[in-house]
Amino acid sequence: MKKIIKHIGWFIKAEWKQYTIMFILLIGISIISLVPAKLLGEAIDTIVSSRLTASTLYLLAGLLLLIPIVRYSMSFLYNYMVTKEAQKLAYKMRQNYLKHLFNMDSKFYEMYEKGDLISRVTSDLEAITMAATSLLEGIVFNVGLIIFAIIVMGTTISWKLTLISITIMPIGISILNIIRSKKRKYIKIHREIYADMTEKVLESVEGQKTIRAYVQEENDLKRQSDAVNKDIESWRYIVRYENWFNPMFEIIYGIAYILAFSFGTFFIIQQDMTLGGLITFVAYIGQLYGPITSISGIFTQINNAHISIDRFEEIMRQTSEVHDEVDSLKILGFNEITFKDVTFKYPFDKNPVIKNINMTIRKGETIGIVGPTGAGKSTLIRQLLREFNVTKGTILVDNLPIESYKIEDIRNLVGYVPQSHMLFRRSVDENIMIGKPNATSQMLDKAVKIADFEKDLMFLHDGLHTLVGESGVSLSGGQKQRLSIARALIKEPEILILDDSLSAVDAKTEDNIINHLKEFRQGKTNIIVTHRFSAIHEADMILVLESGKITQCGTHQELIRQDGWYKTQFIEQMTMR
Ligand code: ADP
Repeated sequence: MKKIIKHIGWFIKAEWKQYTIMFILLIGISIISLVPAKLLGEAIDTIVSSRLTASTLYLLAGLLLLIPIVRYSMSFLYNYMVTKEAQKLAYKMRQNYLKHLFNMDSKFYEMYEKGDLISRVTSDLEAITMAATSLLEGIVFNVGLIIFAIIVMGTTISWKLTLISITIMPIGISILNIIRSKKRKYIKIHREIYADMTEKVLESVEGQKTIRAYVQEENDLKRQSDAVNKDIESWRYIVRYENWFNPMFEIIYGIAYILAFSFGTFFIIQQDMTLGGLITFVAYIGQLYGPITSISGIFTQINNAHISIDRFEEIMRQTSEVHDEVDSLKILGFNEITFKDVTFKYPFDKNPVIKNINMTIRKGETIGIVGPTGAGKSTLIRQLLREFNVTKGTILVDNLPIESYKIEDIRNLVGYVPQSHMLFRRSVDENIMIGKPNATSQMLDKAVKIADFEKDLMFLHDGLHTLVGESGVSLSGGQKQRLSIARALIKEPEILILDDSLSAVDAKTEDNIINHLKEFRQGKTNIIVTHRFSAIHEADMILVLESGKITQCGTHQELIRQDGWYKTQFIEQMTMR
């Protein structure tokens, strides 16, 4: 409970007025719930003693009618407020979580799977929100009702009978505690299994085209049903423990009734108690059933919330290794970027992917990077995106380490076109303008032109306004590449990186794009990672990367004069034409 208060204390503090009103309402509801049984007892005693008058009857009937109306109004107001507060809390927590995710570096995303991250912001967040809102009701209303009922029973009916009937209740609650502690362990396992199932479903939805293309529906369905079965099985385990608790508690509760009836009758004979008193008493025992079992539910809710808070906080505690400092510098342009002995290893890999890289990128140059697949070309060039910190060595931007600049500024210098293209379910122009949301239509037209995407527009029924992505028009691989290039170009980046982004375009389009870059990006830097030598033969410098090392470096003319990978591959490409 302390953990919950600690975790959402900030919210309760901010919303203290609403919480105070809700608290008062709950206390009011719990007190008012006890009044009808008391009135009934009083009425019976009045009738039995032949003291009933017309005015008392009207008063009793009037009160019995009024009480549900007041109770209903208070409950209505409470429910309205609690729902509003729950939504507010969920919204704020979700916002904080997503903001935090945006600040995390790539190492974090290597550590956690998408499904897991989603389940923490859905089912875990729901458990926390429940704890922050319905828990208040559970505790204040139920505990309030139990306490007030015991006070009324003990002081106005019979303290002896109260002691006899109520002392058995803690036994029921103890049984529940034992089962609860076992359940807690299984809930945690269940959450992990649930996250795994979410991940599998996500993967199948995302990969449904590939699954269908390879006729793997049955295998995939089997994988899905295995995950679902595992989820159900783990849930069954939990339910079994719950089923243990319920019948045991019913038996104990039954004993409380028997004790109340038998001792109550005895006390009436002894004239220690009235018939009306016993009726009120038994009615209260009945009324206590709900709150006592609810309190058991509250313990479960607290447990769930504790587990969820742990899972939620685990993410919120993660810090990004790549982060800004208070004195991070601004940068809007650069003259020279130097890699000095740069080695980089992915966080969870053993061996480095790029080793002792030394190279210089100058403003205005076009640099080509070639080499076998898996040599580390993307890894090398993505170092400019500040996804990870380098493992050894340093990258200097105008003689200062890249880490001394604001991450956002460094990323703004770069327009990166990745190998795989992400299209959002938006129109073509909106997809392009992700690169620069406040771009003018001239900027948009220019980007479309340089990326040689103009010719594609006439094939799209709504031109730039055509909806693409899921449930929109499907674009060809080449069209997606050109759209991605336009997206990078619209921000007019100091450095444009085409990471094998011309692989799906024909030779003529590739030529057009390269020529446009030359014409429109004078004074700006282009880095072209490619398998096709035609795209880089005019580059100012070409680097050959093999097994993470730069093995050759020079212009096209220089490289074809050297024996090495470049010359061999060049000749091979020429003969294949
Ligand atoms: P290239 O661009 O030359 O084809 P990459 O830089 O994409 O090469 O990959 C180089 C090596 O790094 C490959 O062995 C690849 O499996 C590995 N690699 C790429 N991305 C990651 C990653 N996120 N985590 C771990 N290893 C990776």
